[in-house]
Amino acid sequence: MEIFKQIAPLKAFIEGVKRSGKTIGLVPTMGALHRGHISLIEASKSQNDVTVATIYVNPTQFNNPADLQKYPKTLAKDVEMLEKVGCDVVFCPDDHEMYGEKSLIKVEFGHLDKVMEGKFRPGHFSGVALVVCKLFNIIQPNSAYFGQKDWQQFAIIQVLVDELKFNLSLYCIPILREPDGLAMSSRNLRLNERQRVNATVFYKALLTAREALRTGKELQTVKKAVKEMVEEKPEMRLEYFELADSKNFSVLEGIDWAGRPIMCIAGYAGEVRLIDNMFLD
Ligand code: AMP
Repeated sequence: MEIFKQIAPLKAFIEGVKRSGKTIGLVPTMGALHRGHISLIEASKSQNDVTVATIYVNPTQFNNPADLQKYPKTLAKDVEMLEKVGCDVVFCPDDHEMYGEKSLIKVEFGHLDKVMEGKFRPGHFSGVALVVCKLFNIIQPNSAYFGQKDWQQFAIIQVLVDELKFNLSLYCIPILREPDGLAMSSRNLRLNERQRVNATVFYKALLTAREALRTGKELQTVKKAVKEMVEEKPEMRLEYFELADSKNFSVLEGIDWAGRPIMCIAGYAGEVRLIDNMFLD
């Protein structure tokens, strides 16, 4: 496995791969890898000649400095996991390599970055878009793999690729969960034992809400029930529970089956912010 910390040698390597007519799959990550990440690597490996994973905790997508500072970093273990799964290339730059002295560009997404994650993490998607554009330009992938776990992020990147005409295919890979249903996340490493047990309430709330909505309960009533269900657990707090149209990405006031609705949830277990989602069908 080739490991690059700098852009110039990585670009030279990529040029060689392109010249030989091989396809490249890209899996961007922030490290602290788990099996969810590995499923993205496996998807890329099955469809491409060369798989490039990136490990970079992108500061411009963090609106909360404490969250950035406490983000888990396990680079040596990550590299080991990537080697084991047969990843071909790892790119793990530092901030200076990615941003230089300063960065002026901001990216906006109209109504899309004002709701859900965008509402509670102002500037988050601008940071995501910026770093993803940089990675697309450096690595020139044929395909890029993202997780449904960050569904709104996937929607934003889909818009980015469509509007900026990136010449690549995007894939959205299903959420991998722990045996008790908790969505795998690097942030789970920050949960204490009690929080880890109680954090499954986000998944359970999604299951309960799905059942209620499918059987005709009103969305507003379900939202209230979800909040109660989450917050009756110690240290658990709901930030939002929304139903979104997965085709036009708008937030819904009621069920519209034509848009393949998806339920999105975010909240805190102690100080750790967690997100999850589930399609209604
Ligand atoms: P992150 O390192 O959290 O930025 O995640 C890197 C990529 O892995 C993103 O596209 C995530 O959506 C995806 N991912 C994170 N958690 C999971 C999971 N539990 N299952 C599948 N993909 C995931």
